[in-house]
Amino acid sequence: MLVSITSTTPDAGDLGFLLHKHPNRVRSVDVAGGRAHVFYPEATPERTTATLLVEVDPVRLSRPVGSKKSKSGPAPANLEPYVNDRPYVASSMLCVAIGRLFGTALAGRCDTRPDLVDTPLDLELAVPVVAARGGVDAVKRLFGPLGWSVEAEVLPLDPAFESWGDSRYVSLVLKGAQTVKDALAHLFVLLPVLDDAKHYWVGESEVDKLLRRGGAWLPKHPDREFIARRYLRFASLSRDALARLAEGDADIDGQDDRHNAGEEEIERPISLNQQRLTAVTEAVLAAGGGRVVDLGCGEGRLLERLIAEPQVMELMGVDVSLWSLDKAERRLRLENMSERRREKIRLVQGALTYTDARIRGADVATIVEVIEHLDAERLDVFARVVFGDAAPSTVIVTTPNREYNVNFEGLEPGRLRHGDHRFEWTRAEFAAWVESVNQEFGYTAEFFGIGPEHPETGPPTQMSIFRRGVAYEPSNPGAGS
Ligand code: SAH
Repeated sequence: MLVSITSTTPDAGDLGFLLHKHPNRVRSVDVAGGRAHVFYPEATPERTTATLLVEVDPVRLSRPVGSKKSKSGPAPANLEPYVNDRPYVASSMLCVAIGRLFGTALAGRCDTRPDLVDTPLDLELAVPVVAARGGVDAVKRLFGPLGWSVEAEVLPLDPAFESWGDSRYVSLVLKGAQTVKDALAHLFVLLPVLDDAKHYWVGESEVDKLLRRGGAWLPKHPDREFIARRYLRFASLSRDALARLAEGDADIDGQDDRHNAGEEEIERPISLNQQRLTAVTEAVLAAGGGRVVDLGCGEGRLLERLIAEPQVMELMGVDVSLWSLDKAERRLRLENMSERRREKIRLVQGALTYTDARIRGADVATIVEVIEHLDAERLDVFARVVFGDAAPSTVIVTTPNREYNVNFEGLEPGRLRHGDHRFEWTRAEFAAWVESVNQEFGYTAEFFGIGPEHPETGPPTQMSIFRRGVAYEPSNPGAGS
């Protein structure tokens, strides 16, 4: 993997001072899982390029963290740890190398030429292979607002086989007048955000790193929440970072509102959230209540409604985010709850992309505004976990209707309602997914709209109520097997 930094501001050789690397020498250091080199393919007063090349040893990379004696470790069950894209794509490993080799430049120090530190240069950053979830759009969205002109091209999966389509990699050239320290900081923060698969565990110190590298520009970036969340991966940490970026102007509750601000703000004029909760609660009761699981329960707004219903005998909230579960616990005031109610409800952490014995045997499962947070390629697994394995009698799913978005003031055309939404479906797209679930797992479904129905775009939220095993069609022996 490599990245090249070119300066065309005379004297372009100043780049060498700023990077603290002499153009006539190659500098190499060991980095976790490989070795990094800096060299200059060209160095003239008109144009100077420094290239950072990281050679990754996939075998070293696959060793468990902290284990030096890999031979004693158990052999992995498959080749995946060895055969992956990490050696070839710009990712968080490149950022580790940037930190190691350009740490002083990144920190904005240049003792020999302090005048250069804050001087914008005409720079060109070239990264031939960037792992970019969200493709060219994501790259433009992230780098564009920072003043770069972005040239990004999706790389084909295999140039020899056009029909195989695109890869998830992009070749990237950024051009702009930037200080070297900002340019490096942009790469340092945004490459892992694009890659979305950091190779090392994200911990508290990552918050500090993000604030240090992003402090100057992240607070003004329109996608700062998305960036912080992706960079930190864990919701509670990103909230901490965002709060500190905003200079502590909110308590925990305030932070949450900010996190959801986009979506709630957009939907507020039609109080969609309340209408959704009412519609889902009614559907749960119509299905007879009983044992109910709320999958992706978030902060427990639906649980709060359901726990008050005598027809709901047992209630479980599942979410992947501990932070959300913590909020739910406080919203429900679990501590102060009567013994009887307390026994009725459980909050558990779990991911909907892994089979989970705890959710088997429920009468009703609710999945409210969750599926659009899952990667489209994980939806099959999700369906297997919920409809195939847990297999509740009734499943209630809600998701935004993308067609309706044109009616929201304050939502730019083409934008989704929330930075974390991986997709928003049209009615036809939702119907197609519902149909495929029905076919595969032997459910039948009915569709409902939630919120004001628009004659052309339909309602803002779409809901499907699935029932297991009803109207099984013998003419289609594949269904339900
Ligand atoms: N149902 C709630 C929350 C919706 S927000 C409501 O309507 O208010 C989406 C929720 O799904 C978040 O709380 C998020 O943490 C959770 N989530 C996202 N991916 C998940 C996964 N793979 N497994 C479990 N929960 C997930």
